Amino acid sequence: MGASPVPLCPDEVGCWKGQAAAHPIASDLPALPALRTLESMSTYDELGAHVSTAGGIHHAPGRAAEIGAGVFQIFTKQPSRWAEPRLDASIVRDFQAATERNGVRFTVSHDSYLINLASPDRALWRRSADCFRGELARAATLGLDAVVTHPGNATDGDPDSGIERNATAIAEALQAVAGPRVLLELTAGTGTSVGGTFEELNRIMRLIPAPMNDRVGVCFDTCHAWVGGLALDADFAGVWMRADDTFGAHRIELFHLNDAKAPFGSRLDRHANIGEGTIGVEPFRRLMNARRFHRVPKILETPKGDDGVTADLRNLAVLRSLRGT
Ligand SMILES: [Zn+2]
Ligand SMILES: [Zn+2]
Repeated sequence: MGASPVPLCPDEVGCWKGQAAAHPIASDLPALPALRTLESMSTYDELGAHVSTAGGIHHAPGRAAEIGAGVFQIFTKQPSRWAEPRLDASIVRDFQAATERNGVRFTVSHDSYLINLASPDRALWRRSADCFRGELARAATLGLDAVVTHPGNATDGDPDSGIERNATAIAEALQAVAGPRVLLELTAGTGTSVGGTFEELNRIMRLIPAPMNDRVGVCFDTCHAWVGGLALDADFAGVWMRADDTFGAHRIELFHLNDAKAPFGSRLDRHANIGEGTIGVEPFRRLMNARRFHRVPKILETPKGDDGVTADLRNLAVLRSLRGT
């Protein structure tokens, strides 16, 4: 995989208010998320979307190509069912061939909505941990780069224990399955959910022992951040400074780009089309032009409506139009 460093000076985001030199961002940059070919770097476009696997997982790469995307997210199974499907070898071959043929550079799956790795209920935690390990195993079989996971709910109202249970389950899966990375998604912090702050994500990562913690990063969802109280408009640079002060913003390996239907700080997770929600277009303009994040994959989870292709194309066009502006 390509491992050339990303640009060191995040000039478009104001050099972190002129403090770039003082921040420890130059020396500890990680290898870039999977760039499959060197050639692809010259035309690198980090934008993509969550795409449907209707009719079989092997259709996903073609659907990404249809919207001009070199990166995509999928469910490897029905996300609201416990059933663990076995992947047919011919489907895996077709998926991988289509991924290569379409020049796909980064692929990620999203774990099941039923999984709760922070659950205080031992039976549900065990079932969730097994299901998550299954997700990681399917991702490995398909050759995906990563699995995105929501850190879950500490339904007993004790987030500290929930964070520990989450880390235990993720460490167990990483130990059992080689290959894909695990990206902890910043949540909207609704109710008893954990992972709604940088601090909580950092604690989960710190509780996962070496060497497994080398395979763990963060997925930053703009909608969750916004409704969770991160001011992407008024304090754009400050958000990344806070990330640097906890886990280090270089550990953000994926963005979910979603505008929000609900107000800032409301903790209500409803995704909106880019520029049509309460976040508005400006934070997305700054993000699209933040050199520090140029190479970090950015995936839409915006409403698909009746015609998902048209909806995705429109949102991608809005984002692309913001580059260099
Ligand atoms: Zn998301
Ligand atoms: Zn969401």
